[in-house]
Amino acid sequence: MIHKNFIANQWMSALAGQTLPVYDPSNGEMFAEIARSGSADIDVAVRAARSAYEGEWGRMAPADRSRLLWRISQALLAQRDELAAIESKDTGKPMKQARADAAAVARYFEFYAGAVDKLHGQTIPYPDGYTVFTVREPHGVTGHIVPWNYPLQIFGRSVGAALAAGNACVVKPAEDACLSLLKVAEIAMAAGLPSGALNICTGLGIEAGAALAEHAGIDHVSFTGSPQTGRQVAHAAAAHFAPVTLELGGKSPQIVFSDADIDAALPVLLNAIIQNAGQTCSAGSRLLIQRAIYADVVGRLSELFRATRTGAAADDPDCGPLINAKQHERVRKLLSGAGSGVTVAAEGMLDPNAPKGGFYQVPVLLSDVPPDHHLAQEEIFGPVLCAIPFDTEEEAVRIANGTPYGLAAGVWTQDGARQLRMARKVRSGQVFINNYGAAGGVELPFGGSGQSGYGREKGFEALYGFTTVKTVAIKH
Ligand code: NAD
Repeated sequence: MIHKNFIANQWMSALAGQTLPVYDPSNGEMFAEIARSGSADIDVAVRAARSAYEGEWGRMAPADRSRLLWRISQALLAQRDELAAIESKDTGKPMKQARADAAAVARYFEFYAGAVDKLHGQTIPYPDGYTVFTVREPHGVTGHIVPWNYPLQIFGRSVGAALAAGNACVVKPAEDACLSLLKVAEIAMAAGLPSGALNICTGLGIEAGAALAEHAGIDHVSFTGSPQTGRQVAHAAAAHFAPVTLELGGKSPQIVFSDADIDAALPVLLNAIIQNAGQTCSAGSRLLIQRAIYADVVGRLSELFRATRTGAAADDPDCGPLINAKQHERVRKLLSGAGSGVTVAAEGMLDPNAPKGGFYQVPVLLSDVPPDHHLAQEEIFGPVLCAIPFDTEEEAVRIANGTPYGLAAGVWTQDGARQLRMARKVRSGQVFINNYGAAGGVELPFGGSGQSGYGREKGFEALYGFTTVKTVAIKH
């Protein structure tokens, strides 16, 4: 089947007539094709978005926009299983994770539907004779470059917020994972989406993605992906002064102190690295353990790693395949170049029935990894956890902050004062105490610092990011 672009509520082939193959990561087989868009397709989509912004969509009353987003959220929820099946086959996500992602995209639309008519400005005290107030206005046409690891979730948090703020959107999904987003567009159109409010062009990053970032008709760019590409996108957007939100991944620490509730921590530590086969920007990929409990925690976690089953997405394993052959090769190379100083403490099991052509990498627990080792510094984007011992709180903070990233962190301790100290000292956009991820929370602002990027998505912060403030001063 050939999937077309979604522009102005119509399905359109790429103008050059080209397509790209779509592979199933569980068996490596091609099963569909997508449009290979170029700059001309992006231009058509940006023009469609502009006329929506200046037309019916831009004029829609906030309460009506809210009702529309709510209808979309309920339609997404009703078709959750179908969305999950598409996402699972396209990305290799185990079905239970895909179902959670499908519920999450619906929840983002629900949350932002409720926020549309609560995005107030301010009145500002000023000398007698003036009335001064601010209005939050949409940027206009927003560009969204989405990666392959969580297409539904990242679409929900970025496009849901941008639409709620009143922008018209042009989306470039990752070439490896487009299909669920095309389905979302179909669902949104059936729920009453006005023509041009949402447009999706599939294709390669260096073609369609680059064309979107550099298009002068784009007023804001939201990018999630690698730091290298993020830098290029920010450069391209800077040429036409479009603000950018960059979400670029991390090397997030989980810090376990000797007074922690280890029984509660262990399953969470495991899940934080095997979820989505470790292809999660906020994966808890460095495990800092206080020396007094180091051997015990590594030993017990090793048992959990050994019990994991890696296999085909449809079989709902603990760990599915990686997204593609390139990513598979990259993770294997990183592991084989680990060097003699690093110990493989445990590895998971590969399901003997896993199809031969799939891109499988079993979960790996590495112990005694020096904090400055390249495996403890670089984002692996696979199910590989580096255990690192530490002695004091100061040392834990130094190691935790000792990478160029700063996206998420977990701290496990029963000591209330230490919880507060660590929350302040760890350089990270989110800090979780005695949990990791707070069950996803669409309400919770998310984003990083340093090489993890800048700007915030999720929660009300995303709405602020997708709007700009106008000050009105009236002299009377
Ligand atoms: P990438 O950054 O190349 O791709 C992300 C998105 O950007 C995709 O939609 C892609 O088509 C697009 N893109 C690529 N080149 C572009 C360009 N020049 N201009 C505009 N858009 C462009 O990521 P990748 O190659 O798919 O993965 C490589 C690494 O990126 C991974 O190993 C991982 O470390 C990281 N990554 C991080 C996240 C995250 O959530 N933070 C997601 C995916 C990948």
